[in-house]
Amino acid sequence: MLIVFIGPPGAGKGTQCRRLVDLLDIPHLSTGEMLRAVMEQDTALSRYVASYINAGKLAPDHLVMRIVSQKVKSPDCTNGALFDGFPRTMVQAQMLDDLLVELKRPLDVVLELQVPDEVLIDRLLKRAKIDGRADDNDATIRERLRVFHDQTKPLVQYYSKQGK
Ligand code: AMP
Repeated sequence: MLIVFIGPPGAGKGTQCRRLVDLLDIPHLSTGEMLRAVMEQDTALSRYVASYINAGKLAPDHLVMRIVSQKVKSPDCTNGALFDGFPRTMVQAQMLDDLLVELKRPLDVVLELQVPDEVLIDRLLKRAKIDGRADDNDATIRERLRVFHDQTKPLVQYYSKQGK
């Protein structure tokens, strides 16, 4: 089963995805976690990725797609996968569609988690104090929400049209 999970930052995608993967026995592919793992190294690539994430911007589509397509083609994903925080742009959604056509594995379902912005800002500021994530500060949180409404939210209509 291939599932896409869409939701704004701080909606609780990670938490809900962990519950779902336990039930469905498929891997949880969080592009945010994959990108943070890249950032932990000390390379030109890690500094390049950090320059986007720490500013609340989206990492470049081609880079994200390269990481995801390697994973999806790996034996771990034979039974499917739950995409958490991916795709986040129309370009990524179209690239994912092309990849899944190539692999002859259609997307089964798209889930959207909705939370009002005021609740998200409050939660993310609280998380900032606990986790110390560099991208959880007031300016970056507002930028991530702006990016979500501008670039990711349109995917809901895109997938609705596909009947997902
Ligand atoms: P998340 O852990 O899902 O909140 O992601 C944290 C950050 O990683 C986001 O604010 C983006 O900067 C970056 N990121 C995660 N997933 C993607 C994606 N699919 N495309 C581009 N950037 C992403």
